[in-house]
Amino acid sequence: MTRNLWIDTHAHVTNHKFADKLDQILQNAREAHVKLIISASTTADDAQTLVHLAHAHTIVKAAVGIHPNDTHLTQPADWQRVITLADDPVVIAIGETGLDRYWKDAPFDVQKESFQNHLDLAQSLGLPVVIHCRDSMPDILELLEGRNRTLRGTMHCFIGNTDDAKRLLALGLHLGIGGISTFANKEFDSLRETIRQIPEDRILLETDAPFLSPHPFRGKTNEPARVAVVGEALALVRGWSVEKCSSLTTANAENLFRRI
Ligand SMILES: [Zn+2]
Ligand SMILES: [Zn+2]
Repeated sequence: MTRNLWIDTHAHVTNHKFADKLDQILQNAREAHVKLIISASTTADDAQTLVHLAHAHTIVKAAVGIHPNDTHLTQPADWQRVITLADDPVVIAIGETGLDRYWKDAPFDVQKESFQNHLDLAQSLGLPVVIHCRDSMPDILELLEGRNRTLRGTMHCFIGNTDDAKRLLALGLHLGIGGISTFANKEFDSLRETIRQIPEDRILLETDAPFLSPHPFRGKTNEPARVAVVGEALALVRGWSVEKCSSLTTANAENLFRRI
């Protein structure tokens, strides 16, 4: 049997839900043939913890940044720490950044300024950017298109429509497909239809663990091992063999995150 090797392009291994069982979670991932987990940070402290953790576990690489929902708690010194950490060789991306209109804690202007700072940092370092979007696709498209330059990065947990996908792809972004694409509800059929139209070389797989567990584990704590479950579901949606799905998506991740 072919050994499938997966890359989880978006997870949060530093999340408190994994605190007392990280070794087990990483072992589960290895046993599910996950070769790499790209973990995203949410604050400067989290970024620091993540960089340490990535030095201790070669299966983990880091994206450093401030999550939009944490931007209002961020001091200038925190952003300077992110910039310093970004030079570490285990850091392969900047993020997660982006915009979020669902949670109301961080003022939208503050989120926007932080998003622009992350985009500038990623550009200056030649690193891809990891973008978060919740209830704010029009804002994100307007901001990115207004910058008028192509981007390297991923729209993580993409759940937009076909027009959103076209515009994000035109900007140069990859689209991260996660657990929501596996949910059985009819309302997600249109997402699956959009996913069928994404060019083969722009699709990435992710878990967003501990969040967004795929079907049939919906509602349970997610973990990077389940990127294989998301990959098997994507193979079905695209009419690919599981082997084709893992080799394509892994090659795409390696191509985008060039430091790995
Ligand atoms: Zn996110
Ligand atoms: Zn995330």
